[in-house]
Amino acid sequence: MSRFWSPLVNDLVPYVPGEQPKMANLVKLNTNENPFGPSPKVIEAIKAELNDGLRLYPDPEGEALRETIAEYHGVTRDQVFLGNGSDEVLAHIFYGLFQHGEPILFPDVTYSFYPVYCGLYKIEGKPVPLTDSFEIDPEDYRQPNGGVIFPNPNAPTGRYLPLEQVETILKANPDRVVVVDEAYVDFGGESAITLVDQYPNLLVSQTLSKARSLAGLRVGFAVGHRDLIEALNRVKNSFNSYPLDRLALAGAKAAYEDEAWFRKSCDGVISERERVTEALELMGFEVLPSKANFVFARHKEHSGEALAKSLREQGIIVRHFNKPRISEFLRITIGTAEQNDALIKGLQSI
Ligand SMILES: *Cc1c(COP(=O)(O)O)cnc(C)c1O
Repeated sequence: MSRFWSPLVNDLVPYVPGEQPKMANLVKLNTNENPFGPSPKVIEAIKAELNDGLRLYPDPEGEALRETIAEYHGVTRDQVFLGNGSDEVLAHIFYGLFQHGEPILFPDVTYSFYPVYCGLYKIEGKPVPLTDSFEIDPEDYRQPNGGVIFPNPNAPTGRYLPLEQVETILKANPDRVVVVDEAYVDFGGESAITLVDQYPNLLVSQTLSKARSLAGLRVGFAVGHRDLIEALNRVKNSFNSYPLDRLALAGAKAAYEDEAWFRKSCDGVISERERVTEALELMGFEVLPSKANFVFARHKEHSGEALAKSLREQGIIVRHFNKPRISEFLRITIGTAEQNDALIKGLQSI
C-alpha cells in the first residue's frame, strides 16, 4: 500500500505463477512447460530475424502469422486474433466481451487467472462446481450469465469435455460468448475450432507455450467469428498496437511449419503421461484421466502438501494448490523419461 497507488491497484489480487527457481539440476515439473523443446526451425527463424530490421516496428497485425494459423486450422485470417501469450488474449476477451453486468461462469476448479481478470476489470465471476468426479456438467451452464469460460482439457484437473458437450453449452447460451481455452488440446483432445463457423458465440483460445514448447516466446491466439475478433482488435489497438515482436512472429510461424516436430513432441508427452499414470496408480494414487501434459493425482495415505514438500527436498518440484476440494492433489507436469523416472523414484522413496 502506498499513497501513490490508485484505489484499483490496492484491491487487486494478482495471479501467482508457478515458481521459476534459479537453482540448476532441479527436476522441474511445476509449470506445464514442454520438456522436448522448440523445433530447431524455430531457432533458425528467430536467428534470421536478428538483424538491423529490429530498429523497425513489427507488423502490428501479424498478417503472415495469422495467415499461417488460419490455413493450419481451416479458417480465414480475419477469424484469428494474436496476443502476447494467450493470457493477454484472455485479458482482452474479459475486457471486450464479458462486461455485460451479469456474472460470468467458470468451473470452481479451474485456471486461477480467470478470477484475477474478474478482479482487474470489476466483472463478477460465478464459480460453477465441477461434479464429484471433477467433470464439467454442461447442464450447469443453463443460467443467466455475462459469458462462459473454461479450459478444455480443464486445468489443473486434466479432464477433457467431448465436443458434443461443448456444443450443449454453446446452444444453451446463444446470446453470450462461450470461450474454450484450449491451452492443452493438442495432448489428446479435439479442438472446437472446427465449430466456429457454426456458432457465432464461440471463441477458442490456444497458446504456443505448451504443445509447441515456446512458453518463453509468449504467443497465443483466439479463433472465432469475425465480429468477436473485431472486438478484440479494438481492445488491442487501444492498449498496445504491437503485442508480438519480430522474433515472436517469425518463431511462431516457423513452429507451424514443422508439423513433424510438433507431432513427435505431443506423442512423446502422451506416451510418458500414460507411463507416469500407471506408475502412480501402482503406488496407490488416484489419478484423474488426463488429456493434458500433466496429471492431477492424490494419494490415499499421504497428504498433497507433505508429498510436495518431500519431493522438493529431493530436488523435484511439482505444483500443489492449497485450495478447497483440491488440497490433497498434486499437479505433476509430464517431463522427459529421465525426469519422470526421478519423480517415480522420489515418490517410491516416500
Ligand atoms: C498455460 C495456460 C494459459 C496461458 O498460456 P500463455 O500463452 O503462456 O499465456 C492459458 N490457459 C491455461 C488453462 C493455461 O494452462
